[in-house]
Amino acid sequence: MSIFEEIESNVRSYCRSFPDTFSSAKGSFVYATSGKQYIDFFTGAGALNYGHNHEHMKRRIIEYLESDGIVHSLDMYTVAKEQFLQTFRSKILDKGDYPYKVQFCGPTGTNAVEAAIKLARKVTKRVGVFAFTGSFHGMSLGSLSVTSNHYHRQAAGIPLSHVTFIPYPGDTYNIDSIDYIEKVLQDDHSGVDKPAAIIVETIQAEGGINVAPIEWLQALNEICKKHEILLICDDVQVGCGRTGSFLSFEDAGIVPDLVILSKSISGYGLPMALLLINERYDIWTPGEHNGTFRGNQLAIVAATAGLELWSSSQFQKEVGWKSSLIKTILERYISSIELNIEIRGKGMIWGIDFSGIHAKEKANEIRDKCFSNGLIVECVGRQDTVVKILPALTIEPEILRQGLEILVDSIAVALK
Ligand code: PMP
Repeated sequence: MSIFEEIESNVRSYCRSFPDTFSSAKGSFVYATSGKQYIDFFTGAGALNYGHNHEHMKRRIIEYLESDGIVHSLDMYTVAKEQFLQTFRSKILDKGDYPYKVQFCGPTGTNAVEAAIKLARKVTKRVGVFAFTGSFHGMSLGSLSVTSNHYHRQAAGIPLSHVTFIPYPGDTYNIDSIDYIEKVLQDDHSGVDKPAAIIVETIQAEGGINVAPIEWLQALNEICKKHEILLICDDVQVGCGRTGSFLSFEDAGIVPDLVILSKSISGYGLPMALLLINERYDIWTPGEHNGTFRGNQLAIVAATAGLELWSSSQFQKEVGWKSSLIKTILERYISSIELNIEIRGKGMIWGIDFSGIHAKEKANEIRDKCFSNGLIVECVGRQDTVVKILPALTIEPEILRQGLEILVDSIAVALK
């Protein structure tokens, strides 16, 4: 019995899905002490867009450590920050003409969500926030207040107030949420005050790979502008190239007022979170939102190296190509079995939704079968009915095919 199994018998440890102990990882493979190797379609819930221990990034980190580069600096100016900011500006912000200032938050995405909500309240002098059904924004009390998941909310132990949940596109409520927002705001008797902000994920990842249509995002942006409500885009999981563009809203042609990046902004599994602030709204006073571990220098060094990888046009072309490969293989298989199973996704984030068939628990069974067959996937969605596919953007096509084959075979066995 491993120490973790022993612990599990009397203490609640976190991981229940993956019963093995991992020791090392390279690219899209994770290695366990059992001697098994696994293809990784989970990638730290989107924290490892460049795979495990990418050579280019690793070299940069090692060189930085060997030169005794400053590792912890709070909010002091550093060379590593300067290089990151220059690279981020030239490769991402200037390209899209984005008017953002960059705030180092963190270390986690949750912390940047907190910063965004606080700043929106400060800018507008309003309190309320509109969030969406199916949303996930984090575990701290502020970010949890805009997270819809009941299981997580109940752990707060206090009422989570000042938030109005609006149906996300495609949700079972089947209402036009933009029209609903407009009516609620115009109706003096709706009981809902004009909010400081609307916080949105362009694709709800934890919520079940729900993809917001581009026109809907544009309409949401319009309504925010019209009512002077700040639009916050939480790009923690689907930003940094996951959807095929670096910022997930690029193809909608919108410029949210505040943007939250974390997970794969370092891309090496090192903690880092940014809040991009439309320069018009940078009204923080120094130190108003801070924290000891914001601006982790090793993460920043990795982030600069990651941006160098991302910005090659060949890299982006390959992401597009691998995205089509996933879509084609999954759609071909699902149409061959003629069951009400839905495929949703974009770029390198896909979900297979089993909620339309009565055996909803199948998704967990498939996750477990995949694991025994050497593939790591997780389940997301309201009742964990969606198998989430989140390979590294750098995955070799052959490994991607192998992983998809394991997935398809595991589904076939589970549905027998
Ligand atoms: N927002 C989104 C969309 C997320 O997916 C997550 C993490 N799953 C968070 C916020 C919270 O980030 P963290 O766990 O780094 O605090």
